[in-house]
Amino acid sequence: MQQLNVVWFRNDLRAYDNAVLDSAVEHSTRNGSPLVALFIATPDSWQQHDMALIKQDLIRRRVMQLKTELAVLNIPLIAVEGNDYKQVGEVFVQLVKHYKLSVFVQREYELREQLRDKQVETILVDSGGQYIEFDTQCIMPPGSVRTQQGDIYKVFTPFKRNWLAALKQHGVRCYPKPKPLAINTIVLPEFDEMQSGDNSSAAWSVDEVEVLGKMRQFCQEKVGAYHTARDFPAIDGTSLLSAYLAIGVISPAQCVARLQIEAKDSWQSDKSGAEIWLSELIWREFYKHILVAYPNLIKHKPFQSETDGIRWSNNEALFKAWCEGQTGFPIVDAAMRQLNKTGWMHNRLRMITASFLVKDLHIDWRWGERYFMSKLIDGDFAANNGGWQWAASTGTDAAPYFRIFNPVSQSEKFDPQGEFIRLYVPELSKLQGKAIHWPHSLGGVKSYFSPVVDHATARKHTLEIFAEVKKSA
Ligand SMILES: Cc1cc2nc3c(=O)[nH]c(=O)nc-3n(C[C@H](O)[C@H](O)[C@H](O)COP(=O)(O)OP(=O)(O)OC[C@H]3O[C@@H](n4cnc5c(N)ncnc54)[C@H](O)[C@@H]3O)c2cc1C
Repeated sequence: MQQLNVVWFRNDLRAYDNAVLDSAVEHSTRNGSPLVALFIATPDSWQQHDMALIKQDLIRRRVMQLKTELAVLNIPLIAVEGNDYKQVGEVFVQLVKHYKLSVFVQREYELREQLRDKQVETILVDSGGQYIEFDTQCIMPPGSVRTQQGDIYKVFTPFKRNWLAALKQHGVRCYPKPKPLAINTIVLPEFDEMQSGDNSSAAWSVDEVEVLGKMRQFCQEKVGAYHTARDFPAIDGTSLLSAYLAIGVISPAQCVARLQIEAKDSWQSDKSGAEIWLSELIWREFYKHILVAYPNLIKHKPFQSETDGIRWSNNEALFKAWCEGQTGFPIVDAAMRQLNKTGWMHNRLRMITASFLVKDLHIDWRWGERYFMSKLIDGDFAANNGGWQWAASTGTDAAPYFRIFNPVSQSEKFDPQGEFIRLYVPELSKLQGKAIHWPHSLGGVKSYFSPVVDHATARKHTLEIFAEVKKSA
């Protein structure tokens, strides 16, 4: 049977700095065997994971673009329209009937993905093929950063210290885009061709070189001020790269390598813009390390197990008001409307809205986690779960439960002129001065919502809930 090498693309949709692609090309060149790229769309499984339609569209658009980028390297990309992960196995069953396969993949950490991959590995091995996996979602693979006792870090700061020590020791390596292969013709079984999406992500470029350019521009022009600008949602002060990192259009190694070039040594200066941006990339890795070490998190269990005993109020009407940006708290409503309208939300606002859902509305953090996932273009299980558990004070290295964001003072501090609120809550656009943060003291604005809760009362109740659960633990 003829040997065929397959790069199975999932969350690593790029041609530059792709160790998986690089190895597959190297293998093909060495053996003189053909190479194809494969992508299988699985909308039913995506829906089961609450993946936002805008993220699904970004993936579909990116795969089509990758197809043209790989064609230049003489690597045909077969984009298959499937339905769920079960059907992924069937694609490989079809392929092993005709070829002896070596399949190259990037490791995924979530539960159903691991089951899917195990199934594919079995199909390949049983048919005399190979499944070759690369752990390249992070610069430091999960499990590689440990305490002196060999344990996984549960707290970010020492994790970061050790992560940086490893970076200094090993440096960061990026793979170039592979050279074109010799043309070869391969006859593959017929599969349903991947359909295009709803174009809802059209505002986001899917051209790899353009995305790399955005990252370079951020490192050249904005990272220096990141430490001061990053908390203000009205300022375009963050990189806006999360959607690309989530589906692997760019890699974290590319970000760090570019940061080291553009910011010179300042990434090593405590609290500089470059150092803080690097910290955010380390947070991304921290949550992936935690997820792998504690697979219960994938089952939506809280890290601090005693908090599973909290009986949340879970008031559906309040949840709906939160989802739709109708809580009467201007910064919360502006943030939720930004999410609903654009598929993205600023980090400061993710913290404010998450805290509000859990600690003001007393709704289970998992409801919010799920809603975010269903709307975010950058939805990433580890980061989203980590962020929610941080805000809900249920996770590793979480905010202490008595730290409860006051949505009005957060608004005054981080949107002082109300510019962001005006953008998404037009009902309040005519208000001047501080009133925009709390319009209700003026007797309210007719067209705007009344506050759904009293913050001081809700805060007191949160403290009681947590004190109770901590006591019984
Ligand atoms: C409740 C909550 C939910 C979140 N859900 C997600 C999610 O689903 N996907 C996601 O990518 N991020 C999530 N974050 C983290 C963060 O809000 C976003 O990564 C960030 O807002 C993306 O904007 P940016 O690309 O401009 O980030 P930048 O500020 O430019 O940061 C650079 C990169 O670092 C990573 N990063 C930054 N902050 C964090 C963080 N706190 N945790 C993990 N990684 C981080 C992202 O990959 C980001 O693109 C969440 C945070 C909270 C509080």
